[in-house]
Amino acid sequence: MALPDLASQLEAQLGEAVSLNTSVSDLTTYRLGGPVAVVVRVFSENDLVTVGQIISSAQDEIPLIVIGRGSNLLVADSGFMGVGIILDGDFTEVKIEPGLRLTAGGAVPLPVVARQSAAAGLTGLEFLVGIPGSIGGAVRMNAGGHGREIREVLDRARIVDIQSGKTRICRADDLDFSYRSSNVKHHEVVVQAELRASLDDPDACRKRIDDIVRWRRENQPGGANAGSTFKNPSGDSAGRLIDSAGLKGLRVGGVVVSEKHANFLQAEEGATARDVYELMKLVQRKVKESCGIDLESELHTVGFDENL
Ligand SMILES: Cc1cc2nc3c(=O)[nH]c(=O)nc-3n(C[C@H](O)[C@H](O)[C@H](O)COP(=O)(O)OP(=O)(O)OC[C@H]3O[C@@H](n4cnc5c(N)ncnc54)[C@H](O)[C@@H]3O)c2cc1C
Repeated sequence: MALPDLASQLEAQLGEAVSLNTSVSDLTTYRLGGPVAVVVRVFSENDLVTVGQIISSAQDEIPLIVIGRGSNLLVADSGFMGVGIILDGDFTEVKIEPGLRLTAGGAVPLPVVARQSAAAGLTGLEFLVGIPGSIGGAVRMNAGGHGREIREVLDRARIVDIQSGKTRICRADDLDFSYRSSNVKHHEVVVQAELRASLDDPDACRKRIDDIVRWRRENQPGGANAGSTFKNPSGDSAGRLIDSAGLKGLRVGGVVVSEKHANFLQAEEGATARDVYELMKLVQRKVKESCGIDLESELHTVGFDENL
């Protein structure tokens, strides 16, 4: 089954939840990149299983991408000729239960988790306030900041495999977490996570949140970017290396190395995904020349000839 037939089948089953040729610029924090051929909003696990069955029944392999808040994604200007899955509905819920456990659907924004847990007098999740991703994206990426990572607070994650239709319930140890990485595959969807926290005074929690938000404003640029572009090499910081190589202000087309934080590549009006990609390659080359270190991309790049 070719992509247009698959799109018709998805539309027949899921109606308005399916949209064609959706610009990825509306779905990512970079606000650039081409169209995603088919976007499906799934509102329940049943929907997800239906999508999986339709995709698996196609003879051709259909490229698949799960799109969270799009805060770590760079999609090429030519777009993505496949199916993009976006969680909605049931996956936007947060439950705080006695026993210091917070359960959040895969689509819940991390700042919402941080603020709701703080308001309930739970501490330990404040670091999530500065990361503009979703719970699902954070588990996939092992997102972290301010000395903590999601793996330290994750009790269990519920993950649906689109290809097999099977669900696995994982403890943090099952996910092979390492720095900004996990074993979650591109055809798996993190639909829910249970996070641990401990009791504290809500005002103290809010104060920590305010401090993190202030720190972010003072040290990171706003605007269109995807946060840190490169992973920190062991024992050093990518931002420091890029700065030491004299690359702040370096530009390709409409994308520039931030003066405020050298690991952020800022997209200006008229920038293209190709500009970001070429600037990433240029920064990698110049840092290698300057100190011999190979910077590895933290961003997930989609639709380019080569992963950086
Ligand atoms: C201003 C800014 C600051 C940032 N600061 C930080 C930081 O301090 N620390 C940090 O770690 N990151 C940071 N990031 C990057 C980003 O927010 C995180 O990587 C986040 O975890 C990505 O989540 P997302 O929902 O946006 O995922 P997306 O960008 O949508 O996707 C990223 C990857 O996760 C996959 N994915 C998304 N949702 C799911 C799901 N439900 N199930 C399975 N796979 C999924 C996607 O397919 C893709 O491979 C920052 C980004 C920005 C723009």
